Amino acid sequence: MRQVTSGAGLDEAAMARALAQLAALVKARGLNSSATRAEIARAALSRRGHFSVEELATDLRARGAKDAHTATVYRVLPLLVDAGLLQLTLVSGKSARYERAFEREHHDHLVCTGCGKIVEFEAEAVEALQREIAARFGFLLTDHVHELRGVCADCRPGARRRRAR
Ligand SMILES: [Zn+2]
Ligand SMILES: [Zn+2]
Repeated sequence: MRQVTSGAGLDEAAMARALAQLAALVKARGLNSSATRAEIARAALSRRGHFSVEELATDLRARGAKDAHTATVYRVLPLLVDAGLLQLTLVSGKSARYERAFEREHHDHLVCTGCGKIVEFEAEAVEALQREIAARFGFLLTDHVHELRGVCADCRPGARRRRAR
């Protein structure tokens, strides 16, 4: 088991690879290319960490993308997920959150229900067990959302008292 870090953002070459991957899916599905869709993909891939659709829409408005209404972002996100650019990552809480999947390693999450702190980790034992469970029921896993919720060390009762001592 090891902790995973968000790492650096995508450089321009990686961004171009991601957009090419999206364009390939768009073409395969017979959709028209769209400047708004590409702009949403760029903004999403530029974000660090985990974000909600609302946060992404706010980013887009700040970038001056006038056509990127929240409803449009909602419509485009599943395509970005299918293209392997993003993944749905946290499902509990007020709204679901996404994060970049493109050229990032798979990881799972521990979430503090007190302060919202998120720890990203990768545990091969857990991955292997999940595959085993899926196989037992005749499933071939394509993806999963694994979110462990709890209270972090700082938020545990008595944490402040211990620190103050
Ligand atoms: Zn906490
Ligand atoms: Zn994550």
